[in-house]
Amino acid sequence: MTREIPLTDAPREVLPGVHLIELPLPFSLGLINVYLVRLAEGYLLIDCGMDTEPCFQALSRAIEAVGVRWQDLCEILLTHIHPDHMGLAHRLLQLTGARLWLHEHDAEFLEKLTQFERYQAWAEGVLRQAGVTAELIAKISHVSDEIRKSFHKLKPDRLLAGGERIPAAIGELEVLWTPGHSPGHVCLYGRDRRVLFAGDQMLEDISPNIGWHEDRDPLGEFLASLDALSQIEIDLILPSHGAPFSGHREWIRKTMEHHADRCARILNLLQGTPKCAAELANQLWERPFTPFHYRFAVFEVLAHLEYMERLGKVVRVDGTDIQQWRLASAVSA
Ligand SMILES: [Zn+2]
Ligand SMILES: [Zn+2]
Repeated sequence: MTREIPLTDAPREVLPGVHLIELPLPFSLGLINVYLVRLAEGYLLIDCGMDTEPCFQALSRAIEAVGVRWQDLCEILLTHIHPDHMGLAHRLLQLTGARLWLHEHDAEFLEKLTQFERYQAWAEGVLRQAGVTAELIAKISHVSDEIRKSFHKLKPDRLLAGGERIPAAIGELEVLWTPGHSPGHVCLYGRDRRVLFAGDQMLEDISPNIGWHEDRDPLGEFLASLDALSQIEIDLILPSHGAPFSGHREWIRKTMEHHADRCARILNLLQGTPKCAAELANQLWERPFTPFHYRFAVFEVLAHLEYMERLGKVVRVDGTDIQQWRLASAVSA
């Protein structure tokens, strides 16, 4: 994987009519890239940044530096509704009058997230059942309270399903539905330039977080999305975090290997005694977590368990308050 374009502070034109704009984030990811894309008429903004004043100021400065006014922004597309991507959307929509594009599954997910008390109670229930202590759950909920400020109700003008096309200066951009990191995650593919606006689907040095969602198989969906992406030709990956890069097939191979390895380690830990997801998380990552990251770790383990349950490799142990898991072969033994 080669690093093709160095990171700098100013917005930079990564392709004719496509500017990469870095915005500051308050947590450990550090920065988010949003993309300003020239259309036949006006501009498209891909993702918005977090709902903080430094983020808004940085975006305002960048747009001005490119010579674009707020009213020139006529389309806003969110790759997904994580707070670093959608936080400023409500403010920008008011400023610009732009149309909002969002995948239907993330619109549904956002509906749930904005009924915050209900969502919080659900998430606490999942953590309790996964074996997380009451003390830690209280700390996690405290952090989530902070993050809720970035979730706003949004009314998309266009609900995406995948396959939609946006005419941009660099040629048509096709919406690819790539679920896994979130249920309605989308990438934009420019076939003429063989460029992929990848959202959080592919990040050069980070394996995207895959968290469990009710009634879904996020890891299975993510791997299937990667499989579909490996079939298309991509010369330039424009990610939401970190530098643009290339070599998507190699990245996909490594990432699939990473998840296969994590599955194998979980199966290994389940040899002999059943375990709950929290125990597995503690043993998989032998380093201390902040409560914020611990939540992600437990949901990530749950996503791997769900995936392996559907493959018939692990099963839930019945009749326990805290959900224990064991190897499927132990059932018939
Ligand atoms: Zn994300
Ligand atoms: Zn992100």
